[in-house]
Amino acid sequence: MKLMEFQGQKLFAQCGIKIPVGKLLSSAQAAGDLQAPLVLKAQVMTGGRGKAGGIRLVGNQSEITGQLNELFSMTIKGEKAAYVLAVEGGTEIQRELYLCVTTRGSKGQPIVIASGTGGIEIENIAKADPAKIVVEDIDPETGVTSYLSRRIADKMGCGEINELHQVITGLYELFVRFDAKLVEINPLAVTPNGLIALDAKVVLDDNARYRHAKLFDELEREQGESAERHREDTITFVGLKGDVALISDGAGTGMLSLDMVHAEGGELASFCELGGVTNADVMYTAMKETMDYQGGAKCLLVVLIGGFNRMDHMAEGILRYKAEHDFSIPVVVRMCGTMEETGKEMLSAAEISTIDDLGEAVEQAVRLAKEA
Ligand code: GDP
Ligand code: MN
Repeated sequence: MKLMEFQGQKLFAQCGIKIPVGKLLSSAQAAGDLQAPLVLKAQVMTGGRGKAGGIRLVGNQSEITGQLNELFSMTIKGEKAAYVLAVEGGTEIQRELYLCVTTRGSKGQPIVIASGTGGIEIENIAKADPAKIVVEDIDPETGVTSYLSRRIADKMGCGEINELHQVITGLYELFVRFDAKLVEINPLAVTPNGLIALDAKVVLDDNARYRHAKLFDELEREQGESAERHREDTITFVGLKGDVALISDGAGTGMLSLDMVHAEGGELASFCELGGVTNADVMYTAMKETMDYQGGAKCLLVVLIGGFNRMDHMAEGILRYKAEHDFSIPVVVRMCGTMEETGKEMLSAAEISTIDDLGEAVEQAVRLAKEA
């Protein structure tokens, strides 16, 4: 999940990274008694706001309302801002640095990416002069050591070694504590008051949602999309012409099952994949989409592998749908993994058969469809 700047800032503050004093506005009228000089920043998901006109330096009190109206009405790379962040604009920026903590794809190891020449041209600098970009591994055993920070500061040509160490430590703390995939400050401004994060970019790992459920819900609410809608979006449904309807909880599992149904001489009536980390409501919706499809389904095959998904939740979704809708076709369920025993008990109490062996489950589903 990608956060907006003001959301990233809140996490920055919790990890001791200095951010500018600011106020979040949801309309031009909300400006109230804000005093120029100000920097007004459109809160949109896309980067490159500065170049797209989404950042306004307002020196004159009389311009505040006009500039806010413009920011609220403009579209930035297809996105309209629901919020504008107003921050104090008086700070003297002596230099703009770039700092980022993320993982190195190949090794999955945390790294720091840094540059002594941050700002809105960072992508061009990275291309034109890659030597200006510093990349250093962080050893998870030791975390960010002062000598690592010293080496980074040295390569960046940054004299504020102790303060830089504090910022890198804060970024890494955020990265670990909130299960982030990426945290980035561009620019990290060198000012007479020290290093201040003038922008905040944070991407959290959706797979860690269960560890930060409250935070994710709150962030999603702020971003104006209900958690429910977000979850429903993960379902993929394809109507087909065969007689075995398939529901699986992942694309890979679905493809495998499809191949196995084929190898058994069957054809899919529909393909439905839950996608990502799901719950009983998503399973219920998948059942509904599958049963609502006016295809030739004569048997429903459900293949679930519980990694993050809980099998008791999946069973709950199936059973809730069954209790509310009277459908006649047989259901064959193969479930394994998290809370498997509970899920199987729930289903067998409702006379839905579960088969542990995937090959047998597929065979039975194809046979039941042919016999019907
Ligand atoms: P981005 O273009 O979406 O990355 O937006 P940023 O927040 O990074 O802003 C772009 C540029 O605007 C920065 O590189 C700064 O030069 C400038 N800027 C951003 N925030 C402030 C601020 O609070 N004060 C001042 N003086 N300049 C800012
Ligand atoms: Mn930026």
